[in-house]
Amino acid sequence: MGSFRNVACPCGFKSAVKVGGGMRDFQTNSTFPFYCEKCGLVEVNVAIGDLCCPKCQTTAVKQYGIPPISEPPLINRGSISWGKYQADPKGHLCPLCKHKTMEFISAGEIMFD
Ligand SMILES: [Zn+2]
Ligand SMILES: [Zn+2]
Repeated sequence: MGSFRNVACPCGFKSAVKVGGGMRDFQTNSTFPFYCEKCGLVEVNVAIGDLCCPKCQTTAVKQYGIPPISEPPLINRGSISWGKYQADPKGHLCPLCKHKTMEFISAGEIMFD
């Protein structure tokens, strides 16, 4: 089921994201990291039809893992994935310094259901 990932950038930006969903509600509530111009790194619910920012409700959110906000995917070991959504560990746009230096760090296998 879902897992948590730490997020870090050499500029000092730190966060954490939830990838996927829980056993009981993943069909209606599963998240993947996206980038919102206004809010930065956000967890978007990808289980339902219209993808939108959970904070400002804009639909102009961009998925981490594919250009233009991430380097083209290599699908390395340690990539994060949920269904059709995938992202490599490195090369993601940082909401703070705006460089593609943000990383998703495997936080061991902290699973949740
Ligand atoms: Zn937003
Ligand atoms: Zn940064």
